[in-house]
Amino acid sequence: MAITITVPTALRRFAGNQPSVEVAGHTIQEILKDLIRQHPQLGQHLYDKDGKLRNFVRIYVNDEDIRATGDHTPVKEGDEIAIVPSIAGGVEPIIKDRAKLTNDDIKRYSRHLILPEVGMEGQERIKAAKVLLIGSGGLGSPLALYLTAAGVGTIGMVEFDTVDFSNLQRQILHFTPDVGKHKLQSAEEKLKAINPNLKFIPHKTKITSDNALDLIKDYDLVIDGTDNFPTRYLVNDACVMLKKPNVYGSIFRFEGMASVFAPHLGGPCYRCWYPEPPPPGMVPSCAEGGVLGVICGIIGNIQANEAVKLIIGKGKPLMGRLLRFDAMDMSFREYKIPKDPNCPVCGKNPTITKLIDYLEFCGIGRGEAGGTSGDSIVEEDEGLGPDDISVETLKKMRDAKQDFILVDVRNPDEFQISQIEGSVKLPLPDLPQRFQELPKDKLLVVHCKMGGRSARAVNFLKQQGYSQVKNVAGGINAWAERIDPDIPQY
Ligand SMILES: [Zn+2]
Repeated sequence: MAITITVPTALRRFAGNQPSVEVAGHTIQEILKDLIRQHPQLGQHLYDKDGKLRNFVRIYVNDEDIRATGDHTPVKEGDEIAIVPSIAGGVEPIIKDRAKLTNDDIKRYSRHLILPEVGMEGQERIKAAKVLLIGSGGLGSPLALYLTAAGVGTIGMVEFDTVDFSNLQRQILHFTPDVGKHKLQSAEEKLKAINPNLKFIPHKTKITSDNALDLIKDYDLVIDGTDNFPTRYLVNDACVMLKKPNVYGSIFRFEGMASVFAPHLGGPCYRCWYPEPPPPGMVPSCAEGGVLGVICGIIGNIQANEAVKLIIGKGKPLMGRLLRFDAMDMSFREYKIPKDPNCPVCGKNPTITKLIDYLEFCGIGRGEAGGTSGDSIVEEDEGLGPDDISVETLKKMRDAKQDFILVDVRNPDEFQISQIEGSVKLPLPDLPQRFQELPKDKLLVVHCKMGGRSARAVNFLKQQGYSQVKNVAGGINAWAERIDPDIPQY
């Protein structure tokens, strides 16, 4: 029975420089024995004098560490076996400068200073660090709070949005009295209250291909707290080009993920992992799919933790590794993200050498461009497209008793929050199976929460031969805001 065992880079020279070796056996012990028979030099690196697996060597069967089950763990054909040695030292601190601590600083950071891994040296690097946060939403909130508390000297924040009532469930940087206030103002007030000496640099803008390099270039480290693909690819590419580490985090419903992308430090980038985005609509945003608020705190703090480790150059960064968290199972799993030598942006022969049009790359029309605040697809009021109607027009059509069918493509959970009377409910994911329930000879007016999903439904229906289909711009939230204030907005 042949099984493939992956050999880590550090041990490959003892295995004929091969990334993997075919071995035979029914248990870990048997296959390792066969591996050492083929490559005897590996023996002393895997086992100690007493014939015990060395402590710094971990064996994984399909991402499961065998420590609990030991050498006798059975293996079968098709299993993926990996040897993962611990790598000493981590990376060099990315912050070379040191900013002298005042006596107040020494008192404030005393719990850090007595950690040998931080000490005066580490804290002075933290104070000298300049960190750019993209977004001040779900992830940006805990990130900004903890990094400020930890003593990061300079924090820049890119944000264009104002605080909305629906942000408060997870964006803990913003409080109820802040609703309507610019998020940068709200953020600055809270962060300065934690540490008046913080240098806070507000960037009141959306990050775009035109300004990204300028925004990022003076910072040491970028932390991506956005939830839309155009910004994620833009931030990735700009960070690769400027050789800045990019601490990644994402959240959705009850799940979160985090990693560190830094090709200049030997790791992969986001494009090594996902060279291209999914087609628009395949992956819903948090505004459409929902998110458990506390997940933001968990993932945001993992990002903050990685940022501090990179700044002081201690520990093993989450580079080349994806950490996935499931709140329902309460489980963390780790997956490897290999560096792709053919990556279009960080590979040997990159094809992307300057920033591109990321909305076009992600197949997104400009009207549904993503925001930077990590929580919503922002509908910009740039005039309506040919397939769009306003909520005012919809109201007139209803008042005039015009003959049309109003189709609500939101999810069933959302129907319970709000609905426009008389609508036909057909969730977008069911549309490909159920669209034939809709007549072709009648005008269909489609709405969702904010207009993004209904626009996709309209496109789909037109492809299926429906000629009279309109999208309600702004969705039911616009209806609630401008037509029927009794309907809750969410
Ligand atoms: Zn790459």
